[in-house]
Amino acid sequence: MKKVVKFGGSSLASAKQFKKVGEIIRSDKTRRYVVPSAPGKRTSKDEKVTDLLYQCYDAVAEGSAYKKILDKIKKRYDEIIEGLDLNLDLGHEFARIEENFLAKAGRDYAASRGEYLNGILMAAYLDYEFIDAAEVVFFHEDGTFNAEATDKELSERLEHVERAVIPGFYGAAPDGTIRTFSRGGSDVTGSIVARAIHADMYENWTDVSGFLVADPRIVHNPEVIETITYSELRELSYMGASVLHEDAIFPVRREGIPINIRNTNRPKDKGTLIVESTCRKPKYTITGIAGKKGFCSVTVEKPMMNSEVGFCRKVLSVFEKYGISIEHMPSGIDTMTIFVHQSEFEEFEQSVIAGIHRAVEPDIVEMESDLALIAVVGRGMKAARGTAGRIFSALAHAHVNVKMIDQGSSERNIIIGVKNADFEAAIKAIYDIFVTMEL
Ligand code: ASP
Repeated sequence: MKKVVKFGGSSLASAKQFKKVGEIIRSDKTRRYVVPSAPGKRTSKDEKVTDLLYQCYDAVAEGSAYKKILDKIKKRYDEIIEGLDLNLDLGHEFARIEENFLAKAGRDYAASRGEYLNGILMAAYLDYEFIDAAEVVFFHEDGTFNAEATDKELSERLEHVERAVIPGFYGAAPDGTIRTFSRGGSDVTGSIVARAIHADMYENWTDVSGFLVADPRIVHNPEVIETITYSELRELSYMGASVLHEDAIFPVRREGIPINIRNTNRPKDKGTLIVESTCRKPKYTITGIAGKKGFCSVTVEKPMMNSEVGFCRKVLSVFEKYGISIEHMPSGIDTMTIFVHQSEFEEFEQSVIAGIHRAVEPDIVEMESDLALIAVVGRGMKAARGTAGRIFSALAHAHVNVKMIDQGSSERNIIIGVKNADFEAAIKAIYDIFVTMEL
């Protein structure tokens, strides 16, 4: 049994947090490969080391004062070293980082040092081997991830290493320069390492006990999702629920490795298990609810449009011309409605309308703004009679008017469009009918 364990920034923000992490790792011998983030925030007002590194590098690049910021970063690490009683001095590492900053090693290099230094520290604390991600994680010249080369190198390298710390978030391009994934990218490194060693489990330790059925800013104390499939997760995260970096799913999914989201501050909680598929019955009919505000709809009406070959394509090509992505597209006999992000659409609004007129000569083009989309997702909805009925009666009781309904034939997902102002009430009502009432 082999596990890869990734710890997020808040799990490694101080010596106190490091000690919790140490206990978690030591309590299970199969936790053999550790992927740390950079130290995150200790309190809500604190700064992440990654942000400080960006700030520091930008100051160097602009030729303004940077020493204080660099000192502040060093102090963060020194405090952890002291708190853990480690015999470690990062002085020479900081001298080299400063030198490289002055030699304009790049913003990615700067940001990556947070994970690099934390990796050194973590390896010393655990007495695990330290493997610099620059030696085993590769990027193409254009900055995209080189999965094949990485997988080959990492699996060969780790085959003979019993226990190792591999810092998250970065790797190297063919010319040796450091590149990073997008923010939160240590999740991706964890997933890549799990794939390379054919791990039995990828544990992703953070500061929440898993995915929640609904946004806790809307629903008070929502339930944790025990098991979720990759496709359910994809639908929920697309609609705004975020705990895990999106790109972290692909490498483990293709190998069938489950991900377990765990809470460093509550290690006894089971967290959420993300799997390819499962015959475990979900606790509730729905797995989760997520949504986003800020959409607008464009309705195009023309009698007999259903018999006009190429009608939809012509309308959609107008949106494509202006680079506007389409979210949903419910249609009727003589109407089609296109949901787009308001912020993306506003600038081109009049040009798009004119384009549609020229393309298909509609009778009416109507727009409505300030709409929200809510996704109700769950494998348990498939073949469960009355799910849609329950959603809409709950919304009616909450006095929410439904503007749009879209259910994919997978029956895993129902999308509902409401006014922005009804967004919170709608989510609460759906949560109550499926979770509070099924408890
Ligand atoms: N430290 C990086 C960030 O703040 C990467 C990570 O934590 O995953 O985005």
